[in-house]
Amino acid sequence: MKIAVVGTGYVGLVLGACLAETGNDVMCIDKDEAKVRQLRRGVMPIYEPGLEEMVRRNRSERRLEFTRDLPRSVRAASIVFIAVGTPQHEDGSADLSHVLAVAREIAHAMNGYKVIVDKSTVPVGTAVRVREVIRQETRHPFSVVSNPEFLKQGAAVEDFLKPDRVVIGVEDGKAEALMRELYASFTRTGAPIMVMDCASAELSKYAANAILATRISFMNEIANVSEAVGANVDQVRRAIGSDRRIGSSFLFPGIGFGGSCFPKDIKALIKFAGDNHYDFQILKSVDRVNEAQKVRFIAKLEAHFGSLKGRTIAVWGLAFKPRTDDMREAPAIPLINRLLGAKAKVRAFDPQAGRVAARIFGKKITLVGKTRSSLRRSGTSSASRISTVCAS
Ligand code: NAD
Repeated sequence: MKIAVVGTGYVGLVLGACLAETGNDVMCIDKDEAKVRQLRRGVMPIYEPGLEEMVRRNRSERRLEFTRDLPRSVRAASIVFIAVGTPQHEDGSADLSHVLAVAREIAHAMNGYKVIVDKSTVPVGTAVRVREVIRQETRHPFSVVSNPEFLKQGAAVEDFLKPDRVVIGVEDGKAEALMRELYASFTRTGAPIMVMDCASAELSKYAANAILATRISFMNEIANVSEAVGANVDQVRRAIGSDRRIGSSFLFPGIGFGGSCFPKDIKALIKFAGDNHYDFQILKSVDRVNEAQKVRFIAKLEAHFGSLKGRTIAVWGLAFKPRTDDMREAPAIPLINRLLGAKAKVRAFDPQAGRVAARIFGKKITLVGKTRSSLRRSGTSSASRISTVCAS
């Protein structure tokens, strides 16, 4: 099939590469000229295991193209994915301006029937809005599909190639048939394609992120109680994780969740539930617990060391999770800012996110290399003076 993917971020680039890998002709469009130029040179703008090789292979076999030319790509494609960002407005709601702008551009370029697929995470009702925007701009027939993405950064290629399930929100049989055909190669091993209405598909994505965030905040509270009563949270985690009704993933306590999805998605869900007269109380607490967890950690450091002034703190892990270079909403950022605010010196290391961290912090922190010896070489005379914080 001929596919256009608008937006070459973490989702769009992985989506485009994986669809090309299964034999489709894919045009990836981005408005960011520098990014498109970089991708054409074979340089990845992000780090994801396996992505670079897959992009290189499919480009050399001429199944994958990077361009800024949205109209040409839309005219050539039968299916057009929207995979642009949906950042957070100040009131917590999702900013749909990129999604709706792209929908308008697609409508202007249409030259016949197209399936327009929303891959971005969007509040319930967005498929209806996208349909209205397109209908206003074109007389050509089209279908709008909601196809939320569940990949995990750090394992995005693997997750896309072998999904647990594919969720498709559709309103008509023609679009359903095309989407089933497109995903057939990814679901051959038995993963279900779950077809539903668009509203349910849109809500499924928020519900998935919300329950994962809830588990993290819940475990952080169990960890805090463990400390208060003298229990070992790791033993508690193992005990409850071995119960099949509970399962062992997302039970690790830490300094709070971050990343480009959980914080914004739970706020968006709270907001659109509220806009529809539902007070989502559990999620409000999940968010509050998460914010408190970050502050709590600094308080613990101060309780242990007294003043942090002049003390060297090593921060190990800067991205919001391992195997990614993404530092959007990473807990390491407020943590380091607080350490700097307390006049501590920060030496930091991350195997992937060093370049991104350098852009964020500049010379305010020292970024060090991969080994312990390089940590020592980087100027700290006594290793015992380095206090280590694992922030991923
Ligand atoms: P991103 O910010 O990494 O990438 C978005 C890309 O879209 C950027 O390259 C930007 O230049 C491009 N773009 C914006 N407006 C455009 C336009 N008008 N025309 C062409 N390109 C345009 O975002 P992301 O992390 O890939 O997330 C995309 C969406 O997928 C979001 O809604 C996000 O919530 C959702 N999502 C993300 C993940 C994840 O792990 N990152 C997982 C599942 C779902």
